Amino acid sequence: MMHRHRLARPWLWALRSVHAAVGDEGENAFRILIFHHIPRDAREAFAALVAELRRHHGVLAPEDAEAWLEGRPVHPLGASTARRRGRLPCLLSFDDGFGSNFDVANEVLAANDIRALFFVCPGLVDLTADEQPDSIARAIFQGRLEADEIGADLRLMSWSEIAELKARGHTIGAHGLGHRKLSRLAGEELAREVVEAGDILEARLGAPVAWFAYAFGTAASVSRPAFEIIAERYRYCRSGVRGRNTPATNPHALLADALDLDAPAEYRALVIEGGLDLAYVRARARLAQMAAP
Ligand SMILES: [Zn+2]
Repeated sequence: MMHRHRLARPWLWALRSVHAAVGDEGENAFRILIFHHIPRDAREAFAALVAELRRHHGVLAPEDAEAWLEGRPVHPLGASTARRRGRLPCLLSFDDGFGSNFDVANEVLAANDIRALFFVCPGLVDLTADEQPDSIARAIFQGRLEADEIGADLRLMSWSEIAELKARGHTIGAHGLGHRKLSRLAGEELAREVVEAGDILEARLGAPVAWFAYAFGTAASVSRPAFEIIAERYRYCRSGVRGRNTPATNPHALLADALDLDAPAEYRALVIEGGLDLAYVRARARLAQMAAP
């Protein structure tokens, strides 16, 4: 077990003691969770997490988060009486457009009446099944996985599956045209990666695309010029920098927490309850500065 996982239990206990002692000053805030590929053997952990969120946090649909950011009243799903201190309502998001996301939408989200955000890369969806493993390894995993390690369960969703998610009330957002790191792009290339992703999605879905999430999510993966283009094209941009969102959060620099379903439940709880937020103070400041209008 990793060191940070072993520390999760005492750390979570301390965090909950603090929340219980100081009360719930985080009332008017929500968190966004980030999932990627969800392998079959992680589905049970995912379903358990969703049940926990419904019971103790409340779950927001993308439109709820939009309303919240505009200061309109919102009623999260679940947790009407059992929401515990420090446990904020959560919006679920899925990055990269893996076929497993379509499966969990059918198997877990539908049964719980949950609607979520799905960020896809139109340039990758257009690839043939033969071309996908190479591009997924290169663009998404960047050498952490080789093409021959990309099994059939790591396929990407097809356009018809993406359209079906949309038809079921989920929100489809753009994750860049080809999952490029925006901080490494400039000029035409940058504009194409950001703008064309949304334009292609819009044409495919026949509906406006208001959400963007830049690839890799860290403050170092984005830039001021990128934010200028993002802000012009989209209403909302979700980062991968940890923290909670309030009506005062810049809608183009929304904070979010990636969750590892392999980690122990205590570690996941720690993440969702804000136990890692302090480690991201500088990343949040950098993000806010770059995204400032
Ligand atoms: Zn990604």
